[in-house]
Amino acid sequence: MLKKVVIDPGHGGADPGAVSADRKVLEKNITLSVSLKLGELIKKSYPEIEVIYTRKTDVFVALDKRTEIANKNKADLFISIHVNAALARAATGSETFVMGADKSSSNFEVTMLENSVIMMEGDDYATKYEGFDPNNPESYIIFTLLQNAHLEQSLEMASLVQKHFNNGPIKVSRGIKQGPLLVLWKTSMPSVLIELGFISNPFDLKILNNRTNHDKFASLIFNAFKEYKQIYDKNYSNGKGPELIDSIPRRDANLPQNRAKKEVIQQSETHYRVQILAVNKILRTNSPDLKGRDANFIKMGNLYKYTIGVYPTIDLAKEALGSIRKDFPQAFIILVRDGTIVPLNK
Ligand SMILES: [Zn+2]
Repeated sequence: MLKKVVIDPGHGGADPGAVSADRKVLEKNITLSVSLKLGELIKKSYPEIEVIYTRKTDVFVALDKRTEIANKNKADLFISIHVNAALARAATGSETFVMGADKSSSNFEVTMLENSVIMMEGDDYATKYEGFDPNNPESYIIFTLLQNAHLEQSLEMASLVQKHFNNGPIKVSRGIKQGPLLVLWKTSMPSVLIELGFISNPFDLKILNNRTNHDKFASLIFNAFKEYKQIYDKNYSNGKGPELIDSIPRRDANLPQNRAKKEVIQQSETHYRVQILAVNKILRTNSPDLKGRDANFIKMGNLYKYTIGVYPTIDLAKEALGSIRKDFPQAFIILVRDGTIVPLNK
């Protein structure tokens, strides 16, 4: 069951976030207002759900601290709320981000902007974020090894938010995007970052600056949350946790010693695999989707996560990843412990 949600109002304190042209409207105030209203709606409908905020007042909170609050509390969902800005005043609309390595053009503008706040966290930001420099594109290489265990659920929530925003005060939807966002990077639960609209666009700004609309934004995100909770409770919490069914016959499965060895690795050891895709049905072994690869799957909720290889160390998995990405550019490394996928950063 979904029991804990962390709501993360972007920016705060010395960090105003994006600012309107006349410098009167600040992102940090809009994000806090919408976040508090969202939390109220959740508590009212679901008194049993614990709502945790990364901040409830106008204070500065470092990005890694926000992640830490979510991870320490073992939250089931992380919702970060932001307001966008762009040099092009015509840019308008909402978008929802999930963590991803994609640093293409427009996504990258937003991720650079949202990540740059760590410059305000003092000189030690390089150590805190493993040498990451928000202004150096090469720095983004650290994100290529991703913890994507919760990608499908994050995408589910993101698509629900964008669906409900179609009925909102800002109707233009820029869709769901993936970006290397530091605040989402190390969260060990499904997480989304919502950009409500553009403070740099006169039309969006007028809407964002009206507190009645904050109620509307909050209730739209709440509607998405409600639907997400239904799906989550149905699919991801049968009380037993995710189960492992790893039954696709391998070409070498006829050899008893191989089968035995494979079994041992899967049941008892922590090991790495490369996930190539996740689908809601079992694929035939000769399915074109598997591109002739020898793949196994791990069932999590309603999804069958197809993986290649069983590697005792992450270095071996990394070595394999290169060639697997030629067939599956989105492939990533996962850690499997006791038959279930666990986040890589644990
Ligand atoms: Zn922001």
